[in-house]
Amino acid sequence: TQTIKPLVAGNWKMNGTRASLEEFSRIAAGVSADLAAKADTMICAPATLTALMAAAANGTPVQVGAQDCHAKANGAHTGDLAAEMLVDAGASAIIVGHSERRADHGESDSDVRAKAEAAWRAGVPAIICVGETEAQRKAGEEVAVVSAQLAGSIPDGATAQNSIIAYEPVWAIGTGLTPTAADVEAMHGAMRDVLVKRFGAEGAAMRLLYGGSVKPANAAELMGVANVDGALVGGASLKAADFLGILAAY
Ligand code: PEP
Repeated sequence: TQTIKPLVAGNWKMNGTRASLEEFSRIAAGVSADLAAKADTMICAPATLTALMAAAANGTPVQVGAQDCHAKANGAHTGDLAAEMLVDAGASAIIVGHSERRADHGESDSDVRAKAEAAWRAGVPAIICVGETEAQRKAGEEVAVVSAQLAGSIPDGATAQNSIIAYEPVWAIGTGLTPTAADVEAMHGAMRDVLVKRFGAEGAAMRLLYGGSVKPANAAELMGVANVDGALVGGASLKAADFLGILAAY
């Protein structure tokens, strides 16, 4: 096993207006140099705030990410945003394949794969999300489902630099429910095996984030699990006290 610097990334989803930049600044002010040495931190902004948040993040250790992108670099796609546009606005990573995108917009593994390649084309890593539904876990299919998502959603050529993988069980997102530490350990171990088999040393060094109802009260336990290299945080990233409370796990 090797040391992987963890990443704690917030996902603001469809929340936040310019007034919310004050909360972002409270987050940025709370990430000390000592903490920044131990963990990387990021907030994935709604696209309307990307440039403003990137300006507010300037000179702080907190990076700004984006939440989705179109696969193409430009063109006739009303309402969509290219990875290049998000990077131009200040994004330094792009979430792709979030279960809300898969569910709300019918995104398939091959769509997600194309979006991950778009992030690379624009010069930033993709945060590639996978995770089973409650029905799939009840049927004991979680490892098979997640393995298939990894196979289909991660492009060839993935490295520890250009890809971050987030395991987010759908039933744990925004519900207050979390898998047990043993369940997370089993899943992240299985994911690591899949990644090492396909990508060798790069797969061994890739960051595997856990996401789904992470909060200050459970962060230390979840972040302490083997092969958990950080968190993707939804609801609890909207309040500085909660996000900084999660970072206290490091
Ligand atoms: C997410 O959707 O990325 C997420 C982890 O949400 P929450 O923390 O609110 O469960």
